[in-house]
Amino acid sequence: MAHINSNYLNIKESYLFSEVAKRAAAFKAAHPEADVIRLGIGDVTRPLCPKVIEALHSGVDDMGKAESFKGYGPEQGYDFLKNSLKDYYALKGVELDKDEIFVSDGAKSDLGNILDIFSKDNVVLVPDPVYPVYVDTNTMDGREIVYLEANEANGFLPLPDDSIKADLIYICSPNNPTGAVYNKEQLTQWVNYALKNNSVILFDAAYECFVSDPSLPRSIYEIEGAKTCAIEFCSFSKTAGFTGTRCGYTVVPFALERDGCSLNKFWLRRQTTKFNGVSYIVQKGAAAVFTPDGIEQIKENIDYYKQNAKTITDTLDRLGIWYCGGKHSPYIWFRCPDNMGSWEFFDALLERANVVGTPGEGFGECGKGFFRLTSFSTHENTQEAMRRFEKAFGKND
Ligand code: PLP
Repeated sequence: MAHINSNYLNIKESYLFSEVAKRAAAFKAAHPEADVIRLGIGDVTRPLCPKVIEALHSGVDDMGKAESFKGYGPEQGYDFLKNSLKDYYALKGVELDKDEIFVSDGAKSDLGNILDIFSKDNVVLVPDPVYPVYVDTNTMDGREIVYLEANEANGFLPLPDDSIKADLIYICSPNNPTGAVYNKEQLTQWVNYALKNNSVILFDAAYECFVSDPSLPRSIYEIEGAKTCAIEFCSFSKTAGFTGTRCGYTVVPFALERDGCSLNKFWLRRQTTKFNGVSYIVQKGAAAVFTPDGIEQIKENIDYYKQNAKTITDTLDRLGIWYCGGKHSPYIWFRCPDNMGSWEFFDALLERANVVGTPGEGFGECGKGFFRLTSFSTHENTQEAMRRFEKAFGKND
């Protein structure tokens, strides 16, 4: 008889986005005339930039000619893309070998799959609130999870606690859901903790492209010593609007060893066994992101979202509402007005302003009383949503 992986029974039903959708649909059914604006979804809306489209087309043309047709490619990505990524890291002052970079179909898959190369006995440290994938993938493997409290007092940027011994540490900066970003000094504390405890940091840099202050790190490898204690995950999803096109990359440095084994070799072995690579066409499109025109064009889209973030933070500033994020991140995380609970505020925002956001407690206990808005909508919708927000929750109203 086949037995199931009973750890799946321990995964909490993630009702967050389904509950959001259910409540929004019920509201719409009761108020068909209402123009509901959605600022809750973490998906991009701007189309792929022209340079990427051109490269995708040329990739398709290559596949139609015998001399340029491609069958199975290297599981870890074509050199042309790995070399572009290497150059991209060099711009951040990080020197990598192209074979330290592994191309994949996105950061989410790699964040889950990387656990194949780690013991199930490892203790995992995750901040609370958190991107739920870190918790669920470890629960599926039966690992012990320890939570580290992020709150208003620490600016939602918890620092290492020497009384906690963790083997795997998740850090997401700029953070989803809070939008908070670690500075170099803070990340150095994490790297030092990992070096002292022989832990491995799993650094999620999915939102690095939103960092515009050059003093803030966009890669964990900007921190001395990180190549011996960290794996980095990144993606074209938010950088270049690839959420539906699918392409990401993971960096496993040669210098990273545990139990006398190279984690780069383990990951290569894992990927060549269980993964057959990203389509040539998509990799062609991804490489175009890092051409001079591509960089300029994706910047226009990122700036577009950043303007939306500013519309949101300007409103919160005027209303005197505490928030973090929004400056180097597409996410704005704020304390619910009038001490409302997350879901209470969700309903109030929907009823009074016809705006949908995401209740903070859906990301963990410490998210209670907080709320997430995203800047991925249009200028028009964001401005209108915040005009209504201000009218509904402004003190003079
Ligand atoms: N990491 C974080 C923190 C995210 O918020 C997301 C997507 O929302 C991902 C990773 C997944 O990215 P990808 O689209 O590359 O799978």
